[in-house]
Amino acid sequence: MTLRLHNTLTGAKEAFEPLEKGHVRMYTCGPTIWNYAHVGNLRSFLFYDLVRRHLRVSGYRVTHVMNLTDIDDRILDQAMHAGMSIGEYTKPYATAFFEDMAALRAERADHYPRATEHIPEMVEMIATLLERGNAYAADGDVYFRIASFPGYGALSHLDRAGLRAGARVATDKYDKENVSDFALWKKAQPEDEKIGAAWDAPFGRGRPGWHIECSAMSKRYLGDTLDIHAGGVDLMFPHHENEIAQSEAANHQQFARVWLHSEHLFDATGEKMSKSAGGFTTLRDLVEAGHDPLAIRFFLIANAHYRSRLRLSSEALHAAAEQVRRLREFFDRVERTPSAASDDEGLEQKTAAVRAAYREALDDDLNLPQGIGVVFDLIREANAALDSDQVGPRNKASLLGLIDDVDAHLDVVRAEEPGLAEEVERLIGERESARRARDFARSDQIRDDLRRRGIALEDSKAGVRWRRVAPTGAERS
Ligand code: AMP
Ligand code: ZN
Repeated sequence: MTLRLHNTLTGAKEAFEPLEKGHVRMYTCGPTIWNYAHVGNLRSFLFYDLVRRHLRVSGYRVTHVMNLTDIDDRILDQAMHAGMSIGEYTKPYATAFFEDMAALRAERADHYPRATEHIPEMVEMIATLLERGNAYAADGDVYFRIASFPGYGALSHLDRAGLRAGARVATDKYDKENVSDFALWKKAQPEDEKIGAAWDAPFGRGRPGWHIECSAMSKRYLGDTLDIHAGGVDLMFPHHENEIAQSEAANHQQFARVWLHSEHLFDATGEKMSKSAGGFTTLRDLVEAGHDPLAIRFFLIANAHYRSRLRLSSEALHAAAEQVRRLREFFDRVERTPSAASDDEGLEQKTAAVRAAYREALDDDLNLPQGIGVVFDLIREANAALDSDQVGPRNKASLLGLIDDVDAHLDVVRAEEPGLAEEVERLIGERESARRARDFARSDQIRDDLRRRGIALEDSKAGVRWRRVAPTGAERS
């Protein structure tokens, strides 16, 4: 089995092999911390999480860097209006970002570099580009000279003639040789000084442009050549194209060997979710409306392949919550049902085939939705086998192994609430005592509280058993 990834650079799925045996260097474009992340941003960040998890499942050690953009026109504007320094202004949004990521169970990257903390690296790279003639200064600003980099456009498959015609080039008021030349350094304005957004450089006091940040910080932590560079599709042009131009012109090495781009999240009306457009939804909004962060996680990574568009709706979130519940219920059931005396050979073979098919789906450009589909088919069959007491010890171990395989990516099944099982057992004991003391109000209250949390108690001859059900009273929005 080999992992195949769709590389934007070649437009094809390719067998993945890192430069250094067993070790993957991965850089992913992180949030601009001028506001809360919306769930569209979070889709991209959870895609990065899926990539790193599957690389680990594939046996690789991963060094993962995700930047936090804290120098940006919007940040500068807002900080200025609020009368704060950049650091003060961005702090709550950085904190919120880490909280969101933790609530969604995204694994932590190894480094989260910030632009403000890596100015010397950026200055050094810009100086090299100036020296080599890949950049020029114009009235205190410094621009990258696109005409000096013949490979420009290779990632997004743009032709340069189109670029020259000015397609999709932001309007800009500066003195550029060519409309598509982009800023590496912007001359300090008096307002920038007030909020701590100006730094000294041999080419004049100012602040870095957005693109140079990723080129300089990825070099600092991962070296000249990355195995994987990932981001949302909107970053392919011009951001990633500019990163390639800067890095390759400065380092004379290939910048990133594999480029992965994830598609956007759209809102219920079919609009791309975007902060500047206004109508965006944050994780907080969804949690306040009663959605479980792990159902949101499942929805964002498993409902659609990462290269397909995904539409947010409360129906889709409820369906995701139901799938998470079914996975957990199945896991509990397999774990807690006593083994039958012998194994079901048919089930054993099917489980092995499904584990292989799941892995194959993930190896095929991270096709998690397909993998999950195959697993749910098996769950139906295995539930029938559990109903008729046909699940032996080997069957149980294989089924639990399958859940582990799936949870290596999903991370919604196991240990979802540490200590939950113990707490439920304790409450069951308390309910028994209440019943013995004929305190039925208390015993009913315990049962109802658990039911609201998605735990149903069943009285049987063998004692009280519990299983997962849809929580009652979960608001529908
Ligand atoms: P930003 O905070 O704007 O720098 O964006 C952070 C990440 O979110 C980038 O990788 C973007 O490509 C990605 N992104 C922005 N909008 C969406 C969206 N609607 N759906 C998915 N990803 C998005
Ligand atoms: Zn970037």
